[in-house]
Amino acid sequence: MATKRDYYEVLGVERSASADEIKKAYRKLALQYHPDRNPNNKEAEAKFREAAEAYEILSDANKRRQYDQFGHAATQGAAGHYENMEDIFESFGDIFENLFGGGPSGRRQSKRSAPAAQRGQDLAQGISISLKESYLGCPKEIRIYHFQACELCKGSGCKEGSKPSVCSTCAGSGTILHRQGFFTLSQPCSTCHGQGFRITNPCSECRGQSRIQKHEKLMVSIPAGIYHGAELRILGKGDAGVFGGPSGDLYLTIDVQQDKAFSRKNNDLVTILNLTYPQLVLGCQIEIENIDGSKESIKIPRGCNVGKEIVVDDKGFTKLRGSGRGNLIIITNCDIPTKLDDATKTALLTYAEKLGNASQQNSGGISGFFKRFLG
Ligand SMILES: [Zn+2]
Ligand SMILES: [Zn+2]
Repeated sequence: MATKRDYYEVLGVERSASADEIKKAYRKLALQYHPDRNPNNKEAEAKFREAAEAYEILSDANKRRQYDQFGHAATQGAAGHYENMEDIFESFGDIFENLFGGGPSGRRQSKRSAPAAQRGQDLAQGISISLKESYLGCPKEIRIYHFQACELCKGSGCKEGSKPSVCSTCAGSGTILHRQGFFTLSQPCSTCHGQGFRITNPCSECRGQSRIQKHEKLMVSIPAGIYHGAELRILGKGDAGVFGGPSGDLYLTIDVQQDKAFSRKNNDLVTILNLTYPQLVLGCQIEIENIDGSKESIKIPRGCNVGKEIVVDDKGFTKLRGSGRGNLIIITNCDIPTKLDDATKTALLTYAEKLGNASQQNSGGISGFFKRFLG
């Protein structure tokens, strides 16, 4: 997947290109690399597929938005999405019709003797991950319930050795014409439900439906840096197509659970570090554990205030788009003890006496200024 070219680059358009510009660019490429014009040319075929894949994403507002956010990480699944060329013609039929002078080159037919393949539905579900998992990225097993192509009849819907037959009521057109006065009304054929064919000998497994609803376990790879509310698209894991059509896609919405010690702000990983009063006043070197378990040695400067942000560069979240990482931000806090032993209490009282009992509303101002100088 690493060698995959940028879809905008594939089509040769700007990132800001309009839907129309994208369509034009794709038509130009499809014409140039069309297999009818480049017989037995593997390179042209590869370019043709590549362009189709880029067009599929960039011509769909949703998929384009996702791609703009996550790049190729947004789509997972088989690298060669279009297994055969017919799938491409099937998906972008309207583009090719205008491309070749409108002549249906035998690829489309109005009368059907066999079931028309239809693309399966896209499905959506949520997936919950920890903040650590979103930081590191991880494989994740999910359970889905979706239509899968029937294995017994290989998606044909027919019993082995039998074929669908042309519907005799509508002669395969799928519609019945009714004359009403001057008008001719066209209605879906009730015998075949508008399909134009009948399966007289249905497969015993799927009962002629060509697919079956089943549970499936699936390993999904969660990219490092994924954030709450992001949507991942898993190619071909929606519902299987009807009668051998291509499968829909599965959209996974990421739910990142809250963590006790860390939180996320943009691409930064944020944590609060509790220090004692002497540590804050005198400064110290302290080791903390990052969310991935790695150790970071942090220098607390002398006279450190509560709420100070200490930044460790490049230890935040991986940026999904572009390169690099956010930072680890450590916010200092003073750990106020609620229980004291006698010796500590005495020491603290002695210290308090030294400071004097006057309360200060503001550490700044004249008195704060002098204290800092004289202290
Ligand atoms: Zn019919
Ligand atoms: Zn079947």
